Amino acid sequence: MKVTVLGCGSSLGTPSAGGFWGKCDPDEPKNRRTRASILVQSETTNLLIDATVDVRTHLNGISLKKLDGVLLTHDHSDHVNGLDDLRPIAYHGNNLIDVYSHNETLEEIDRRWPYLFRPKANGIYVEFLRKRPVGYDEEFRIGDIDIATFEQDHTTCSTLGFRFGDFAYSVDVANLSDAALAALEGVETWIIDSAAYQKEAVGTHANFQRIFEWTERLKPKMTYLTVLTTHMDYKTLCDELPPHIRPAYDGMVVDMEGNRR
Ligand SMILES: [Zn+2]
Repeated sequence: MKVTVLGCGSSLGTPSAGGFWGKCDPDEPKNRRTRASILVQSETTNLLIDATVDVRTHLNGISLKKLDGVLLTHDHSDHVNGLDDLRPIAYHGNNLIDVYSHNETLEEIDRRWPYLFRPKANGIYVEFLRKRPVGYDEEFRIGDIDIATFEQDHTTCSTLGFRFGDFAYSVDVANLSDAALAALEGVETWIIDSAAYQKEAVGTHANFQRIFEWTERLKPKMTYLTVLTTHMDYKTLCDELPPHIRPAYDGMVVDMEGNRR
């Protein structure tokens, strides 16, 4: 299995609209960040985690034509506003695409865009997604990939954390309960939200202090930071972080042993 970081930016990307780079060096290619999403792949199974407004660019960039499922962490716009662009993948696969998330997330998406799941105008516009509700602390399998979920605290809502064997993906999380940390025990490679960076007061995202506490407890071989804001320059982060914690970058590929390729 391999994991591709399709995007590692925060909700507005880097640079944000208007060409605002913040503290990021515009001459560093790894500072150019699209919205946070990953692809988890085995030889036969492709799973997309979150469907951002950048999904068309993401999938075309790696010539991906088939999806076996989409896993959504929560319903915030920067994680779901690209669902519409998955229509050709469903048509060419001649099947509905299964979208897995907590029931609350699926129902909110259904409320916003009911045509994704139901035919409209007497079948002229046909649905192309299928709801697949999953709970917290649930285990299931898509294709040949085993998945376990856990609940994360995003302050304004709960989000789904996903574990795939030795790898886990945690975005949009301000705090992790003991139960969530227990679900992460033994993870060797972890991609974790870090958008609160060096802020002391944590709002809706994790800051470095918490990430250091968590990694000290979980001891993953490698931890990669995602949801990187315009305050977070790639080279500066590399200097500030210990070698077992690295900033992600768009297009980064990680295998399950935690080695970048
Ligand atoms: Zn969010």
